[in-house]
Amino acid sequence: MPVTAILGAQWGDEGKGKIVDSLCEHADVVARFQGGANAGHTLYINGKETILHQLPSGIMHPKVECVLGNGMVIDPPELWQEMNNLQNQGFPIDERVHISLQAQIVTPIHKHLDAKTELVLGSAAIGTTKRGIGPCYADKANRSGIQVRELREINAVQQKVNEKMEQLRRNNLATADEIQSLLQFMDQFYMASTAILPYVTDTSTLLNSYIHAGKNILVEGAQGTLLDIDFGSYPYVTSSNTIAGSICTGLGIGPKTIDNIIGVYKSYTTRVGAGPFPTEQLNAIGDYLQRTGKEFGATTHRKRRCGWFDAALGKYSTRINGFTTAVITKLDILDQLDQIQICTHYENGSFPEIDLQSAVPHYISLPGWQQTTAQTHRLSDLPKAAQQYLRKIEELLEIPITYVSIGKDRRQLICLES
Ligand code: GDP
Repeated sequence: MPVTAILGAQWGDEGKGKIVDSLCEHADVVARFQGGANAGHTLYINGKETILHQLPSGIMHPKVECVLGNGMVIDPPELWQEMNNLQNQGFPIDERVHISLQAQIVTPIHKHLDAKTELVLGSAAIGTTKRGIGPCYADKANRSGIQVRELREINAVQQKVNEKMEQLRRNNLATADEIQSLLQFMDQFYMASTAILPYVTDTSTLLNSYIHAGKNILVEGAQGTLLDIDFGSYPYVTSSNTIAGSICTGLGIGPKTIDNIIGVYKSYTTRVGAGPFPTEQLNAIGDYLQRTGKEFGATTHRKRRCGWFDAALGKYSTRINGFTTAVITKLDILDQLDQIQICTHYENGSFPEIDLQSAVPHYISLPGWQQTTAQTHRLSDLPKAAQQYLRKIEELLEIPITYVSIGKDRRQLICLES
């Protein structure tokens, strides 16, 4: 490894969680550097489904330590519940979870503001997960947020939260009823905020010591490159930087410590929520991909919009992140199609010179394979047309594909590295 990042190359939901989980076999540590409970990484292990929102996917490997970096926004009640659920399922938590004392805290007020803003925006809503992520990052930038370290003085936090409640009231950002229902969440919020304290530490020092000791560290991205607040399809983006450049600021490690940056691409494209989507198929193909790929958001359960693989944006992602290699997921979902299209470029220019809303995709069509791939173990055993599809993507992205996922289980992964 030693430091390998696994990042979403599209609009999120590429199947990063499964890839991180599969590669954990060789990892000592898995670290998350941005986002919060808006992420939803779905894992299937021995037929059992687990959805992780804040804990890194390495938590399912009992020997792997998990770091929640300073770039994250932590929701204490949700995190505490996630930790307890896993503990109850037999996954040890103690000594394995490390929460940065410099991460930000999501309060019930942030969630209220998130939901309220979306409501006010009406048809122009971003389509957020309403987990309070945007308002929490806004407070961080405004220097009025709460860092995890402050939880050590819970009375001072209580005072700060009370002042924020007062501001809500003064600025008419909550009705009396809404304030009342917010107050009902507060006990749970303070209880969980105290409960997570034993797991709080200086994760930058910890990670750097692990790097010096030669441990293998996986860095797990949440969301995807096109949801990056700077480089994504703004304003329909998440409120953090999701790309490789953000790993250092979100974990407190130097750029030169990162050895590999793997881009995870789904074999087609999906997007959840509002915003431009050039290769979207509002037809039988889109319906087929949605249904066959079971494309529902892991956090919001919303139907995902579906379309063909977009190599124009794929190449953009490769450049923005400096991907060293690519992983293709959900190849099995294309198994039954007789023709598969790929958008090679836009006919009217490239993003970000042109607005994605106006992009005119140019497609090529490749033959489908119409065979099941889910039990394949080697590239050479994949149908020739599937190999051809992968080689075309590789050629367009200009980086090698190292793994192909052909099912949701941990073991359904073909390694292309010799
Ligand atoms: P993430 O947030 O990037 O980890 O992705 P999600 O968990 O939101 O969505 C990926 C979904 O696809 C999950 O339900 C995975 O179990 C599933 N999945 C991942 N890889 C594959 C694959 O190769 N084939 C199939 N059929 N499902 C997959």
